[in-house]
Amino acid sequence: MKVGIVGTGMVGSAAGYALALKGTVARLVMVDLNADLALAQAQDIAHAVPFASATVVEAGGYEALKGAAVVILACGVGQKPGESRLALLARNAAVFRDVIGAVLRHAPDAILLIASNPVDIMTQISVGLSGLPASRVIGSGTILDTARFRSLLGAHLGIAPGSVHAYVLGEHGDSEVLAWSNARAGSVPLLSFAAQIGAPITEAVRARIDDGVRNAAYTIIRGKGATWYGIGAGLARIVQAIARDEQAVLSVSCVGDAVPGCPGTAFSLPRVVGAAGVTAELMPELSPDEARALTASATLLARTAAELGAAG
Ligand code: ADP
Repeated sequence: MKVGIVGTGMVGSAAGYALALKGTVARLVMVDLNADLALAQAQDIAHAVPFASATVVEAGGYEALKGAAVVILACGVGQKPGESRLALLARNAAVFRDVIGAVLRHAPDAILLIASNPVDIMTQISVGLSGLPASRVIGSGTILDTARFRSLLGAHLGIAPGSVHAYVLGEHGDSEVLAWSNARAGSVPLLSFAAQIGAPITEAVRARIDDGVRNAAYTIIRGKGATWYGIGAGLARIVQAIARDEQAVLSVSCVGDAVPGCPGTAFSLPRVVGAAGVTAELMPELSPDEARALTASATLLARTAAELGAAG
C-alpha cells in the first residue's frame, strides 16, 4: 500500500519514521510546501529503512500521491504573535482548502487522515472541503490521549498498557473526557483489579493520572517545544488498521451525530477502523458526570465550528 504524508514537519516526519520502522506500508511519499524539507526528511527516513523494513520512501509533488490509499495531512501554519485562535483556525482552513483539492486531484480514492490541530475542527472542515463520506475522513483525535491514559494506568497497576482498556473521548484538548467508569484491566473492572493487586485508585491517584493525561502536551511542550513521537506512532497505528483491514477499535475523531444537539460534529469515540475507513462507532456506557462532560465537549466543538463558518 502507498501512503502520502503532506506536511513533513515534526509530526508528519515522525509518522513517516514510525511507519518505515514498522514496515507497515510498501511505499511512503512525503510532500511539503518546502520541497527541500520533504526531500531531506524522506532521505533521512530512507536511511533508517535498511535497519528495519523494505519500505520505499520518497519525496515529491502532489502528482506523486497518485494511487495513495491513505494521505496523512500534517500541514499547517503556526500562530502569529497576538493572533486569535479563530484567526489561526481560519488560516489553517485556507491551507486545507488548497491541500485537499490538490490531494484529491491526484489520489481521489484516498482515505484522509487528519493530524493538524485543532484536529477535531480540522477533521470537520476536511469533510466539507473534500465532499468525501465522513467514514473516509479520520482525525487522530484522542488516539494519543487514550495511549497516555493507558500508559499511566498501566504504570500504576504494574501491567502493560496494552492490557488496559480505557478511552479518552470527546475533544482532543482541554474538554476531553477520561472514561474512568468503564475502564478495565484485562477483563476486570479497573477498581476491582486495582484493589486485588494492592494498588487502589484513590482520589489522589485518580487526580494525578487525570492531570497527567490532560496536561501531558503542555509538559512536553515546556521541555522540547512541541510533541511528535507519540502522535507519530498514533498515526502509524491508524494507518496499520487501514492497511491490514484490521477492524481495530481505536479512539479517533470522525464527523457524526452521536451526541444529541451536535449533529455533524467531529470528536472522538471508540470506532472500528479498517480498509474502508471508519465502519462503526461505539458509545461506551458512561457515568452521568462523564455523559454530561462528553455533551459539553461536543457542544464546545460544534460552537467553534459554527463560529469558524461564520468567520469564514
Ligand atoms: P508540526 O509540529 O505540527 O509538525 P511543523 O511546523 O513542524 O508543525 O510542520 C508543518 C509543516 O506543514 C511544515 O513543514 C510546513 O512547510 C508545511 N506546510 C504548511 N503549509 C503547507 C501547504 N500549504 N502545503 C504543504 N505543506 C504545508
